[in-house]
Amino acid sequence: MLNYSLLRNPSNYYSGASVFANYWKVFNLGKIYMRRKRFLQALSILPIAGVVMKLNDLYKASLEMDATEKMPVLFLGHGSPMNAIEENEFVSGFRKVGASFQKPKAILCISAHWETKGTMVTAMEKPITIHDFGGFTQALFDVQYPAAGSPELAQQTKEMVSRTDIGLDQKWGLDHGAWSVIKHLYPNADVPVIQMSLDYTQSPQFHYELAKELSSLRQKGILIIGSGNMVHNLRMIAWDKLNTDSYGFDWALEASDKMKKAILNEDHQTLINYRSQGKAFDLSIPTPEHYLPLLYSLALQDKSDSIDLFNDKAIAGSLTMTSVKIG
Ligand code: ZN
Repeated sequence: MLNYSLLRNPSNYYSGASVFANYWKVFNLGKIYMRRKRFLQALSILPIAGVVMKLNDLYKASLEMDATEKMPVLFLGHGSPMNAIEENEFVSGFRKVGASFQKPKAILCISAHWETKGTMVTAMEKPITIHDFGGFTQALFDVQYPAAGSPELAQQTKEMVSRTDIGLDQKWGLDHGAWSVIKHLYPNADVPVIQMSLDYTQSPQFHYELAKELSSLRQKGILIIGSGNMVHNLRMIAWDKLNTDSYGFDWALEASDKMKKAILNEDHQTLINYRSQGKAFDLSIPTPEHYLPLLYSLALQDKSDSIDLFNDKAIAGSLTMTSVKIG
């Protein structure tokens, strides 16, 4: 029998409604759980060509077999970690580029902030969010980006590279070079992410050639992102010009123009030989880690790919946010 007095009292009614909603959720989760359990049971007794196919194998097969439309490749100028939580034109640029192509199956990110001896890829199921910076507001340290990892993609990446023996890492996670930008592309953290480290013992040419070996991932729904900054000299930052629009030192603008010309002309060798391009380049790339991710992205360019520059601005004198979409 329906209890009308319960319905007449608004507070009872609403609490009754929310109890109902919760039951509904639990009920449906229960159904999903049962369906999943039955599915797994069915799989475990299903002989396919005499082999019991496990769920892992199925997932692996889906990564291996599904040819997709060729994914673009990105180079993202990440700049200040504060871009992770601020609203500004660069963040809008990241969102816009993320909305311009199909959602990937997974992301492989080469971040300026992970340098190792030898090349590693993160291979854990659940990478932690690493707050690898100091002196910023607590709100930035509170950011979590709980994207899943992909041990399968890590293993595949290892297997497809012959130039070096890639190590499978269980300790790193997602550093801010990765999450501070990827979070604007996929705010729901619903795309698995793995990172590949920069081997600090290797030459620019090595990094470029290594990246070329990853090209087939583009056909498998994997979005490859290089995250750094083309011009990046923290020691020469004009702190008093931090909020001045488009402020770049002459040498920064000169190097930036040459870099962009080389990118648009597909003159990759000039960019690989950045150490012999004169003083403006030397000042713009005092250390290689923020620049090298660009070489990874460019190495993955095909003849048929279009090239789009965005977020193309200098800030604080000695940084450029210039980003590239290839394909
Ligand atoms: Zn950085």
